[in-house]
Amino acid sequence: MKGKKFPTQPFINGEFCRSRNAQKIPQINPATEKVFAQVTAASESDLNAAVEGAQEAYVGGWRDMPPGKRTEILFKVSRALRDHVEEIAQLECRNVGKPISDARDEAGLGARVFEYYAGAITKFFGQTIPVSRGGFDFTLRQPMGVIAAIVPWNFPFPIACWKVAPALAAGNCVILKPASQSPLTALILGRIAHEAGLPPGVLQVLPGPGGKMGEALVNHPLVRKVSFTGSTDVGSKIMALASRDVKRVSLELGGKSPNIVFSDADIEQAAANSPMSVFANTGQDCCARSRVFVERKVYDRFVELFLAATKKITVGDPSKDGTQVGPLVSAAQRTVAEKFIAEAKKAGRRIACGGGRPFAKGFYLEPTVLLDVEPDDRVWKEEVFGPVVCIRPFDDEAEMLREVNDSPYGLSGSLWTNDLKRALRVSRQIESGVISINTHSSVHVEAPFGGFKQSGLGRDLGMAAMEGYTELKNIYVAD
Ligand code: NAP
Repeated sequence: MKGKKFPTQPFINGEFCRSRNAQKIPQINPATEKVFAQVTAASESDLNAAVEGAQEAYVGGWRDMPPGKRTEILFKVSRALRDHVEEIAQLECRNVGKPISDARDEAGLGARVFEYYAGAITKFFGQTIPVSRGGFDFTLRQPMGVIAAIVPWNFPFPIACWKVAPALAAGNCVILKPASQSPLTALILGRIAHEAGLPPGVLQVLPGPGGKMGEALVNHPLVRKVSFTGSTDVGSKIMALASRDVKRVSLELGGKSPNIVFSDADIEQAAANSPMSVFANTGQDCCARSRVFVERKVYDRFVELFLAATKKITVGDPSKDGTQVGPLVSAAQRTVAEKFIAEAKKAGRRIACGGGRPFAKGFYLEPTVLLDVEPDDRVWKEEVFGPVVCIRPFDDEAEMLREVNDSPYGLSGSLWTNDLKRALRVSRQIESGVISINTHSSVHVEAPFGGFKQSGLGRDLGMAAMEGYTELKNIYVAD
């Protein structure tokens, strides 16, 4: 990767444009704290050119392209992404400090997402409806037009793919706005998709500051839907802006996901798997299982095993094979996590492991385990988005569930038990969009992903995402 060129300009109408905008967005390698690239932010005129170009590409061909042809193009994009997994992974690793093995998996996931939606195009059906007055009634799923996809920095490449691919598959054109801290793989996606045969204008990539460029995009009259992943604060702001002209929105927002361990579970397995359910991606994961509820009977044993597994995690240079946890994305993100730790310490909570900076350089923070926290502690209630977990014992299933659901969030969660009836009963009662039983796996390309309550609205992935990029039309033919 070193020395290899990568694009740093907005990608509009099939080319990296020579924007006259002087605003540069420095790209910092979180492992070295060094600036290694400057990305040009899209200007207001770039944004208008991109949205108008996307609208032209939509009405001028993409919307009406035969499904078989669209399928062929998206399969080509998927294959091209597979051919570039290493390039994408190396760049992501450098841009956000993601361990290289995770970055490779995520690049591969992006390719699989395109593959899934390429295949879905010809399997995306309407309904025929036996209306009471007779005649023939049927539904069509029609594309919306130009979609704005606004994505965060924690999983930049896969989240971009899981918005772009279903939107394109459904026949829309997309403006992708990456986070300012991680625009590089989004720009590569634009280039690769174009080289694989995606017509100019169908996918535009516009880096730029969220508060200005992001909002201008949300306010643009030609944008029909905003598909957003990021913080709950920004999500609700986008929803308010979109309401002015009743734009469609889907929002994937924050989380404070529970990890519930019952005494009848395989405690060894639960404890061995649980640390990486919160420390993976250095805790910068909306699904991070950062609130662990353990049945009191097995609490001491679980904590002992959890701490032993945590101490074995390899923290270090994300570009090295074998690293499991890299730095946080920025100094600011680390400061947020450190404040939570300092506050817990001040309140007398026990730091059973971690809490400090393991290296002098890079935005690293040790995986941190907090015990003896109280239900009203900020660290127990709020999203940290860093490598910090709290473990608390519980005695009673109903009381534990009340506490689990006493949260504005409802994205994800795990439970560990060998009692099938309990597993199903508890899963139904947890107010969240995704639950995993005896595992921590939350994301499947083929299944819907998204949250209840303030964790979001609408779903990514699976056929649910593709439906979300369409309008439902009913047509009735008289006898
Ligand atoms: P963020 O600050 O909300 O930013 C997300 C994206 O929105 C970025 O591209 C950002 O651009 C843009 N943005 C910021 N302000 C905007 C505005 N006023 N109008 C339009 N766009 C705007 O979130 P983040 O810090 O990147 O990500 C962390 C949060 O995302 C966490 O809360 C996490 O839980 C959540 N998240 C959720 C999921 C999920 O699927 N539920 C997945 C990943 C992350 P700039 O970068 O230029 O500011």
